[in-house]
This record gives sequence, structure tokens and C-alpha cells, in this order.
Amino acid sequence: MLNPIELSGRELGMIKLMTDFFVEKPEMTAKIESYTTAHYALVTTFSENFGISEADTWKAFEELQRKISETEYVQVEAPRPINKWLQMSKDEINMLRTIIDYFSANPKMYPAGSSTTKRSESIIEAYVWFFGSTNGNGEVARENFQNLVEKLQTALSLKLETLVPIVTTPNPYEAVLRLLDIASQKLKLDPGLHEMLKRPMRTIIVNIPIIMDDGSLQVFTGYRVQYNDVLGPTKGGIRYHPDLTLDEVVALSAWMTFKTAVTGLPLGGGKGGIRCNPKEMSQGELEKLTRGYARAMARNIGPNYDVPAPDVYTDSQTMAWMMDEYSDIVGYNAFGVVTGKPVQVGGSLGRNEATSRGVMYTVIDAAKHLHLELKGATVVVQGYGNVGYHSARLLNELGCKVIAVSDSKGAIYNAKGLDPAKVLDHKNETGSVAGYKGSTNMTNQELLELECDILVPSALENQITIANAGKIKAKIVAEGANGPTTPEADETLYKNGIFVIPDILANSGGVIVSYFEQVQNQMNYYWTEEEVRAKLQNAIDAAFKSVLNVALTYKVNMRIAAYMNAIKRVSDAMFTRKNKAAFMTAPSQKA
Ligand code: NAD
Repeated sequence: MLNPIELSGRELGMIKLMTDFFVEKPEMTAKIESYTTAHYALVTTFSENFGISEADTWKAFEELQRKISETEYVQVEAPRPINKWLQMSKDEINMLRTIIDYFSANPKMYPAGSSTTKRSESIIEAYVWFFGSTNGNGEVARENFQNLVEKLQTALSLKLETLVPIVTTPNPYEAVLRLLDIASQKLKLDPGLHEMLKRPMRTIIVNIPIIMDDGSLQVFTGYRVQYNDVLGPTKGGIRYHPDLTLDEVVALSAWMTFKTAVTGLPLGGGKGGIRCNPKEMSQGELEKLTRGYARAMARNIGPNYDVPAPDVYTDSQTMAWMMDEYSDIVGYNAFGVVTGKPVQVGGSLGRNEATSRGVMYTVIDAAKHLHLELKGATVVVQGYGNVGYHSARLLNELGCKVIAVSDSKGAIYNAKGLDPAKVLDHKNETGSVAGYKGSTNMTNQELLELECDILVPSALENQITIANAGKIKAKIVAEGANGPTTPEADETLYKNGIFVIPDILANSGGVIVSYFEQVQNQMNYYWTEEEVRAKLQNAIDAAFKSVLNVALTYKVNMRIAAYMNAIKRVSDAMFTRKNKAAFMTAPSQKA
């Protein structure tokens, strides 16, 4: 399986800088005179050019080296007038590897090329040293080098394909497995059943060819993972992202299994996505890609089988296209094949703010348990997208004081309180919450460490880590985002008496109302927004109460308790549906 990776502008800049060194561009020549190794010349020049620290430059270099060493194919985007993707030959890729290794401060490289004074000759010698030469004097290597430099110096971007996914750390699947292990141990779960829950039930990989606006044909890889369907049809979002890996989709589908189970829904867990860069695609290309995905997956999804929903970089329009394509295939209006649709084509009222409304209900429950007065309680929200904005707005409507919010461009703080709607207007006008009138700008890191009653991380994974967990001063952390706290950080928060409402519970409002959308589609009868809200509150309050009960009984944190509840529900259903003996580990397999 090939894994496409697009190099960032910075990574391409680093490669260009390395080739500058061998073609003796004056900037790098000056550097090498002040530093004795190619490695230091690169690190200092790059760090100055791109304004990042030398330590970060070194990390970026290592990441780049890892990607290139695992690469099977490289395509180079050539500028006008050619303006097309050029394939790199295997020899050129090997030359690129040699160039990068030359800068790696790898002792193996020191002897290579050390006898020549001309730098372009030293790289030829290094190449021949590692990859040999079809003719003894390095003519082929020299030609490869010249072709490669020509392509790289003018390249607009580079696309790589690797055989193994280049996994960014930490691996989200590892975190899920770890929670599963802890919860299974507490529940004394049968080892055989534990084995089953560690793996997805079904993984589907498709490749979707699309004619792009410029007439070129590109092939995109799509995934759908149906992790477990014992409680009902699998359910989970579809993510469009250039770095999406199968591991990530598997982890998210496991998360969905435990999220639907902990909230008591009659649904299993799934997730899907396409490796693509939606920011660089036109609406027309995105529509073709979405319809292609729906066609490729049509036999594996359906209202009673597996029901996708929007996720990162997909929205209600994406869902409308999927529903329309699927309906054409089956020959009737199959509104229930996806959720998160626009209201005019079977969407549910209240879906847009459902996740945040769920966050608010769980905060009310937590505050009741902790005897915390919500009127005047201070709130900090990280991320000001769908979940972050509505969480700030709804908590403000309850009487809480929102003192700080942030987005990817920065954070703002005002001890007297911010008006969430006005901050949103400012973000819509300027592109960021930063610079909002009457507030102080700060970094996202400072925001997380603010003194407050309620912290709502609603941006990305891995925001509260072992590095900052000890500095978190909130009384309640309500996880609007998926996976914002690492397992190690979780333990620190628990020891410090911080009450964490875990993601699978706190942000389950979205999937609960998605389930309501499915139910309304099947009945072809639609509820008012008040009905949706009341049903959501009932469902999430019951789930919260049950998780808190387990946390207090077993003296575990809320996350472990949520997983224990979810795993118990899934495993009980597995035992009930099939003969218990089918799942039990044979006595001889037990330790
Ligand atoms: P969104 O794209 O609407 O908003 C994300 C926000 O995070 C944006 O304001 C963005 O600027 C900000 N952000 C990005 N990087 C940041 C950084 N480094 N520091 C601070 N802010 C940063 O996404 P969303 O739908 O609100 O989802 C947010 C999180 O909630 C994700 O983890 C998502 O998986 C999770 N979630 C969403 C839903 C839902 O219904 N939308 C449901 C469950 C979970």
C-alpha cells in the first residue's frame, strides 16, 4: 500500500538549501567557511532563513531524512511554462538520499568525498561510494546530480509515496489500546474478548481516480474502518486530510465504538477518510472525489449498516453529495445513509451546536458533583471553531464568564469577560480571535495554564501533555476536542484533583444528535429543536451519572470509568448475541 506525503514548503526549502551547497551558491559557501561541517552550515543557514530555532531545525531535518529514506516514488511540481508533475527516477531519489545523508552529521559520510575540493564532485564521490556507478568514473552519477538539481531548484512542491506510513508521534492507536488494556484489566475481561476488541472488525481501502480541473488524473486513497458493530450499525465521521493514515482511522473508529457505547446508543463505531489536501482543491474536485468515495464504498455503507458523518475538513455539503450519490445508486432517497446533512435534505435541527450543547450539559453535571457555582465561574476555551465557539456561547448563556479563547493564530484574555458573539464577529472579519478590542494577546500555551474554573480544549489532540499537565489550574477540564489530553498527563491531572470529563463523554452530543437524525430519517418524521435538546440532555445526563458512579465505585478517573462502562456494554452485547462459549478463551489458553 502506498502512502502519499506532500512535503511542506519548509521541507522543500531545506532540500533547495542543500542543493545550493553543492552548486556552491555564495550564501552557503560563506557559511561553510565559518563552520567546519556541512551539517552546521545547513542548520544555521536554515534556522536564520526560516526563523526557527536550531533545535527545531535539527528535528525538521531528521523528519525529512526519515521521509526521504522511506520513499519509493517522488513527483516534482514543475513551474510554468511546463507546469506539470515530473517523476523522479530511482537514481535521482538515491542521489537525493545521498545529499540529505551528507548533511546528517553521520560519521559514515565523513570519508565520502573528503578527497575532492570541488563540492559538486564530493557528492558524486559520496553517491558512488554508497550506490556504485555503472561506469567507473561517475559519469552517470554526475548526470543524475545535474538532472536532480535542475528539477529541485525550480520545484513548486514535492509529493512522495512511501511503503510504510510515516507515523507522526504519538500514535493515537497506541493511546486507545492503552486505555482498553487498563479498563479491561479493571473489568477482569476475558482475554479472548480483549483480543477481539483490540482489532477492527473490517477495514476497507479504496483508490479513487479523479480528473482534476487542469485535466490531469490523480488517484486518492480512501479508508473506511468498521471497528465493531455488535451494538448496531457502525457510525463515525469522514476526514479529508493530507497526512491521514490508516492507523489514525483505526484509532478514531475504536474511539467511536467506545463513544457510542458509553452514551448508550444502539450503534457501533466506524471512521473513514481520504488522503487529500482539501485546501488546495476546488469545490468541483471535492464533489467528484466525494461522489467517487460514495461509489467505491456503496456496498459497505447504508442506513442499517454503516453511517458516515462529517469530520475534519468535511461538512454538511460533503454529506449532501454522499447522500445524493448513494441515493442514485440504490434508486431511492436514502437520507439515512449519512448524518450531518443540511436540514433541507434530512438533517436534524440542533445538530450544528449539538457537540457543544453536550459539553455544556456535562459541565453542569460536573459542577453539581463538585458543588461549583456556575454563575460567574470562569471559562477558558482553546479553539474557536464549531465546538469552541458554541461551547463559549452556551456556557456564557448559563452565566459563566468566558475569560480567554484562542484559535490557531493566537489567544486572547480579558479578566472581566469576553462577549463570545462579538469575538466571533471579530474572527470572521480578521481571520482570527487575536487582536480583539480590549483583550490581551497571549499564546495558546499560556491560555491552557490560566487560573480558571472550566477549561474546554476544543482544537486538536495532544494539547495537555506531561510537559504542561502540572501547570493546569482549572477545576474542570471538559474535552470538546478528541484526544486533547495524553494518558500520562491524565494521571497528573487526576492526582492534582482536576475533574476531567473525557472526550468520549464530553463531546458525545454530536453523535447523539447524529443518531437522532438517523431515527428521524427512518421515521420520515422530524422533531422540533426543543425536542432534540431535551432528548440530548436525557441521554448525556444518564451517561454522565453512570460513568461517575463507576469512577467513585472503582476509585478511577472519569476516562477509565467511561472506557469501563463502554467496554462492559460492548462485551455484554457480544456475550448475549452469540453463545458465550464462542468468545471464551479455551482453558488451555489461560495463563
Ligand atoms: P473546527 O475546524 O471548526 O475548529 C477548530 C478550531 O481549532 C479552529 O478555531 C482552529 O483555528 C483552532 N485551532 C487549530 N489549531 C490550533 C492550535 N494549535 N491552537 C489553538 N487553536 C487551534 O473544528 P471543530 O468541529 O470545532 O472540532 C474541534 C475538535 O472537536 C476536534 O478535535 C474534533 O475532532 C472534535 N469534535 C468535533 C465534533 C463536531 O461535532 N464538530 C464532535 C466531536 C468532536
